[in-house]
Amino acid sequence: MEERLQGPAVVLFTRDLRVHDNPALAAAVGRFERVLPLFVLDGGLLRSFGTPNRVAFLLGSLRSLRGSLRARGGELALRRGDVVEETVRAVRDVKAERVFMSEDVSGYAQERERRLRLGLAGERVELETFPGVTVVPPGDLSPVGREAFRVFTPYWRRWRVEPRRPVLPAPERIVLPGGVAAGRLPELRELVPGLPAPELPLGGEAAGRARLERWLEHGLECYDELRDNLAADATSRLSAYLHFGCVSPGEVAELALAREGGEGFVRQLCWRDFHHQLLAAAPAISRDDFRPRSAGWRSDPDALEAWKQGRTGYPLVDAGMRQLLREGFMHNRARLVAGSFLTKHLSIDWRKGAAHFYAHLVDGDVANNAGNWQWVAGTGTDTRPNRMPNPIRQQHSLDPEGVYAGRYLPELGTAEYPKPLIAQEDAVARFLGAGAL
Ligand SMILES: Cc1cc2nc3c(=O)[nH]c(=O)nc-3n(C[C@H](O)[C@H](O)[C@H](O)COP(=O)(O)OP(=O)(O)OC[C@H]3O[C@@H](n4cnc5c(N)ncnc54)[C@H](O)[C@@H]3O)c2cc1C
Repeated sequence: MEERLQGPAVVLFTRDLRVHDNPALAAAVGRFERVLPLFVLDGGLLRSFGTPNRVAFLLGSLRSLRGSLRARGGELALRRGDVVEETVRAVRDVKAERVFMSEDVSGYAQERERRLRLGLAGERVELETFPGVTVVPPGDLSPVGREAFRVFTPYWRRWRVEPRRPVLPAPERIVLPGGVAAGRLPELRELVPGLPAPELPLGGEAAGRARLERWLEHGLECYDELRDNLAADATSRLSAYLHFGCVSPGEVAELALAREGGEGFVRQLCWRDFHHQLLAAAPAISRDDFRPRSAGWRSDPDALEAWKQGRTGYPLVDAGMRQLLREGFMHNRARLVAGSFLTKHLSIDWRKGAAHFYAHLVDGDVANNAGNWQWVAGTGTDTRPNRMPNPIRQQHSLDPEGVYAGRYLPELGTAEYPKPLIAQEDAVARFLGAGAL
């Protein structure tokens, strides 16, 4: 084994909040005697992306990570402020020789890495970045002549046979440099106004690994059969744990592929990677149309509000929107129908829908949210952008007994339940009349 450097090194955690299969952490501990794990509650990011649901989940994840690091003799140093300034400060405080971090894809993350590299260069300290946010690192697969795949199926074919890096164990022991203040984990209300959804899951690696284990034992086998069955609620609900890196996508893929039913599930993880590699190559698709659209969007604040509150008069759409408010989560099938309804039935700009989803989804993720919204709106990577799912027919096939709708819409079937905002035939006629897309 190579001799370790005295160090110390800093590991800057971002959204890789785990000790298992964390290449940046493993490399730092493997190469340096002393390591300082650091997390910065970044004011800029909290202002733009911090919502009660995601920040509550984040705080749970930080608490869990701190516990895991302490159990190994380490600590999670917590700081608040600008991520670059705070990291440079920590480097100076402990006289660190190197900083380790996971690479990430959004415009914000790319700019953060650039600024950090610059700030650390002033200290003559190198920044090393590692994979771990996706199964296959963005950019590792690219079609001839392009930076990223724009169609899913060819990406999936290549992704499926791409060799994966080995899954890494959690470090056994972490030795801290001397004189490090741990820093207090703040309360939710100190960071964002508002309350989290009443049925929000608990964040953290411990909760994520427990969910993963249960899922592999009891859910995965029936995934292909039940994934579209809204009443069964039979998907993994790992998305928030994947977003915050409480579980490693590489480890999830490895474990799932070793079991019956794993292939269909891992295909969904590949969708996640697909959207990440697209965003890494074109960060502007978080707000700009990926595919140019000729028809304009309608402005209809009342209809938008009815959609947000789950009062469109279409039970499947409304149940999905109420699930979002209650749980900070929505079943994938309901997301597809609710998103399509907003953009195709109501002709309202996908960015308004995506913003509402960001405000509530605990798994809200720039790559997945924007990528999927563009897909449903027909401005994205869907090769059939003019398809317009019929929410009534979708309900008959995905929730035939109305169990999912009944779960979230207590007033369904009473006079209180609203009439449809627009009749199905009128919505289709308007969509086609506008020349579709
Ligand atoms: C309009 C719209 C917005 C969406 N916004 C987000 C978002 O902000 N964050 C997010 O993680 N997912 C988003 N999705 C994708 C998908 O709905 C969720 O990932 C999924 O419902 C999460 O539930 P699960 O963990 O039980 O999924 P499972 O069915 O158990 O799938 C396993 C994992 O695969 C990944 N995955 C599944 N479907 C997709 C997909 N279509 N695209 C990308 N990754 C996928 C997720 O990481 C998920 O946890 C969105 C979908 C739509 C249609």
